[in-house]
Amino acid sequence: MKCTEAQELITALVDNELSALERASIESHLQECATCQSAHRQEQALKREIRMAAAGMAVPAALREKILSGLHPTAEQEEAPKKWERLLWPARLAFRPAFVFALLLLLTLPIIHLMQPKKQSISLFALESHQKILQGTLAYIKEESEEKLKEQLLRSVEGRFAPMGYDLSMMGLRPVGGTVQEIGGRKILVVLYEGTAPALICYTFLGTERDLPADASLFVDPEKRVGFYTFSRDGVNGVMHREGTVICILVSRLPMGDLLALARSKAKPTPSF
Ligand SMILES: [Zn+2]
Repeated sequence: MKCTEAQELITALVDNELSALERASIESHLQECATCQSAHRQEQALKREIRMAAAGMAVPAALREKILSGLHPTAEQEEAPKKWERLLWPARLAFRPAFVFALLLLLTLPIIHLMQPKKQSISLFALESHQKILQGTLAYIKEESEEKLKEQLLRSVEGRFAPMGYDLSMMGLRPVGGTVQEIGGRKILVVLYEGTAPALICYTFLGTERDLPADASLFVDPEKRVGFYTFSRDGVNGVMHREGTVICILVSRLPMGDLLALARSKAKPTPSF
């Protein structure tokens, strides 16, 4: 079996759609070929990723069932391998993470709009508290050592997640303090940056896109494969992105374009499979 033939069968192998004969011949090729072996591993990881993403999405039960049943073929489906599915699924591995990412966004977006977000209070709290912190009506702990601040905040959530900390020195901003706030039983780590540019506050918490206000707009960074959501109230701008289960919202009176550019430059890209 040649590598090109093997690569064509890898998806079907992971989907458990091969005949016994096909399976035997690809398995013997995988034992000898490191390249195809690694493609096979990537394929399995990708599948796991989709399954996890699908399971984690706040989707109506029926839709989730649909997504997941597409990933675990039923006995009936296995009898008739769906060739069209393989055609729809771009064969070149290199394109696939981007494809899956786009697919997940497509699946997620209408859901966000359909379901009235009930937990949006955190993102609106972020916008409101920005002003309160700057006016001094919401107290924070002054701490100029980034390390100590990070340590304190991390401890306040028993190490479950760390505040997303950024080096903003090129903008003339440095961390000056922070606080922990609680909304609906969830803790929010708050880090305040001040300096020669308009103050910026970084909010970190465990959440999902459902924590966004309904009028948030989405910007997708195609290179990092990260979605950024922008929203604002009364001249205060917020940019939210997610790294796994950790949500980061940057809030500032900086122009939205600048704030978005900043978030894009600092966000970790979605890992490749
Ligand atoms: Zn090979």
